[in-house]
Amino acid sequence: MAEARLAMTKEGFYHNAEGYWKGIPATVDGMLGGFSDISGLDIAGSQKFLKQLYAQEKDKPKLFRALDCGAGIGRVSKHLLLQNYKFVDMLELNQAFLDEAKNSYLGESAERVEKFICMGLQDFVPEPKRYDLIWCQWVLGHLNDEHLVRFLKRCKEGLTDGGMVCVKENMTEKGLSFDEEDSSVTRSNRLFRRIFEKSGWTIVKEALQTNFPVTLYPVKMWALKWKDDPKK
Ligand code: SAH
Repeated sequence: MAEARLAMTKEGFYHNAEGYWKGIPATVDGMLGGFSDISGLDIAGSQKFLKQLYAQEKDKPKLFRALDCGAGIGRVSKHLLLQNYKFVDMLELNQAFLDEAKNSYLGESAERVEKFICMGLQDFVPEPKRYDLIWCQWVLGHLNDEHLVRFLKRCKEGLTDGGMVCVKENMTEKGLSFDEEDSSVTRSNRLFRRIFEKSGWTIVKEALQTNFPVTLYPVKMWALKWKDDPKK
């Protein structure tokens, strides 16, 4: 754990991740580390989670515009967010993935992607009140704790009133683990909770993804709302 903590504060942490993703093909298999066959299950799990969130009496996000963070070629945008939201922005570090999204992968639905933003989450400052939902999937392990807390705090400014952040990430059973190959960390449930708390968010809903191969990390979804929301 101490080693992993050190790894994410080292200078090469971001640089190495960028290098890793530059070498990955712009395909669904590339996005999922060779596990493209879980994509359907993943999307179905997320759709179920969102549906339950929308069904809540209170704390339901509006359905106009969403942001896909660490969007890759737009797998989540195409199959989840654009199925529910009128417009989507995609935020992604690797320009080649955004090009593939725009020119091929998204097909006609590319028309409803308003912005293709090529940037690291650690540098991103959202336009005020632009999004009803900010979706972060399989990307937050690329931010160190400090950058992640700051990013989550900035998300608040980017959301419409009552807007929400959803996080879907791998989880360790305990502690922090560093993956040298793609230069990312995997956090435990407890570490995530601590970070959400520290950055001003409350968990309104959480669920485990079901039916993934047992050889993979458990995957969890959290829906977050801002603590000071007067509608609480
Ligand atoms: N969320 C997508 C892609 C997951 S792969 C999906 O579920 O299909 C992780 C993606 O995060 C890659 O496209 C990678 O280029 C991007 N990424 C890595 N570090 C990033 C950072 N610091 N900021 C934004 N995107 C990043």
